[in-house]
Amino acid sequence: MPIKFPFSRRTAPSDTWTKCPSCDAQVFNKQLERNQRLCPSCGHHFRMSIGERIDLLLDPGSFSERDAGLEAMDRLGFHDDRPYLDRLETSRIKTGLRDAVVWGTGAIEGQRVAIGIFDFRFMGGSMGSVVGEKLARCFEAALVERIPAIVVSASGGARMQEGTLALMQLARTTAPLVRLDAAGIPFISVLTDPTTGGVLASFASLGDVILAEPRALIGFAGARVASDTVGEEMPEGFQTAEFLLDHGFVDAVVPRPELRASLARLVKLLPVAAVDDGQPAPVERPWGPIGALSGFAERFGGAVSETIGIDVEQPPAGDNGREPAGDRETSR
Ligand SMILES: [Zn+2]
Repeated sequence: MPIKFPFSRRTAPSDTWTKCPSCDAQVFNKQLERNQRLCPSCGHHFRMSIGERIDLLLDPGSFSERDAGLEAMDRLGFHDDRPYLDRLETSRIKTGLRDAVVWGTGAIEGQRVAIGIFDFRFMGGSMGSVVGEKLARCFEAALVERIPAIVVSASGGARMQEGTLALMQLARTTAPLVRLDAAGIPFISVLTDPTTGGVLASFASLGDVILAEPRALIGFAGARVASDTVGEEMPEGFQTAEFLLDHGFVDAVVPRPELRASLARLVKLLPVAAVDDGQPAPVERPWGPIGALSGFAERFGGAVSETIGIDVEQPPAGDNGREPAGDRETSR
């Protein structure tokens, strides 16, 4: 059942002006709202709220939100100059959202998809346990319902106020993607300005197709940290969508007015694989950049612990005489 959003779709009062960061033009906010939040003079892509994204990408009235009630808790009792709970409350009031991601099912030109969307205004779109859980459930629903998954990212990375619980979400979100991959269900990742840190370093860079909005900032660490780490000057604009397209990291840079049509085309071109009676065959992952990440994810993402041999009940000797594959030795 489609839901009505309790929050305002506007990001600013409509009777004020916004200065375009690319061309310095003063743009009337009403004009931005009418124009998919693109600068009328230079085409700069302003950030969008979740409601605006839904209107942009999905068939009218088709979106149905899931897990709307999930709310972050302050497990660590964290505070820096302000308690984490205060920061959450401020963001909730500012955005009308419970956390930085909304997910649900909807249709793009009549084709059902599971979609997760970030709002950067909510604590910089940072990924804590609720964001990770929502995205994982989005992928798991795509698997069960056999529909493509799409995530529109806009994030500064892991939510530092949740410490290691936030880092665990890198595994939580990538583990179900391995299962989607094995089941032949496509995942399309859309990177918008900005997509950085632990979000880029996990599910966002694992799309079967990775799209980006023009001139979006996309990178792991900040430019200065990246230069210091490798000990050399990085090329101009190395963290833009266009640079990453030139270097094969992004499949296409898609201007916002074409995004919906591009997603519709991709969903048609990448049909969900037919069900192969029963379980999908287990996939042997090569040891590579993605293999390493998903191997890690499988170990910690709630899958099974038998691959690392912790607390796994051994079958009685002789019952199933074969040694498990891998390098684990059991003494008998
Ligand atoms: Zn402009």
